[in-house]
Amino acid sequence: MSLLEKKEKLEEIRKELVRAKKAPLYAYRTENKYLPVPGEGKANAKIMVVGEAPGKNEAITGLPFCGQTGKILDDLFESISLDRKNVFVTSIVKDRPQKNRDPTKEEIAWYAPYLDRQIEIIVPKVVVALGRFAMEYLFARYGVETEGKTISELHGSVYEGKVGKKKIKIVALYHPSACIYNQKLKGVIKEDFKVLKQFI
Ligand code: URA
Repeated sequence: MSLLEKKEKLEEIRKELVRAKKAPLYAYRTENKYLPVPGEGKANAKIMVVGEAPGKNEAITGLPFCGQTGKILDDLFESISLDRKNVFVTSIVKDRPQKNRDPTKEEIAWYAPYLDRQIEIIVPKVVVALGRFAMEYLFARYGVETEGKTISELHGSVYEGKVGKKKIKIVALYHPSACIYNQKLKGVIKEDFKVLKQFI
């Protein structure tokens, strides 16, 4: 697929989300004059970063990771000299859940096909799952066997998954929001981030 086609297909997804009246968080979005947050970045990025769900700043601007958590993510990109413009950044759930609560199973199931399509269009070398929700979804979707292990055991390693004949590399990291008040975790995430250098 050409770069132009990729851009067009990603734009189609954005438009579909804007008019997705059946989306579980559509009413909450429109009541608050929020925007859906489809994701942002290079249409042929080698690295794709997947968070959980947009927060308030994101829902106001329609841009992913642009608040306090986004600043942490930007610092992490900078720590490995990775230009954010070369990454595609998104989340599984594309609308802000009320009061930043955890997304429900139903919400994840409803929004995830948009993420699946974005991955199919972009074809990144690696998908980075930020936090438990993105990790659990992506490992299940791409058949990575985790033997019930949690993110505390799985973070920072490269796993290979596949859908049909297509293979994909997945790395799970702690969610940057988890390290806002936890310096120790910040060190772990920074160290884990180095694993992405091989994909730049
Ligand atoms: N957390 C996420 O998972 N996504 C965002 O866009 C912002 C915060």
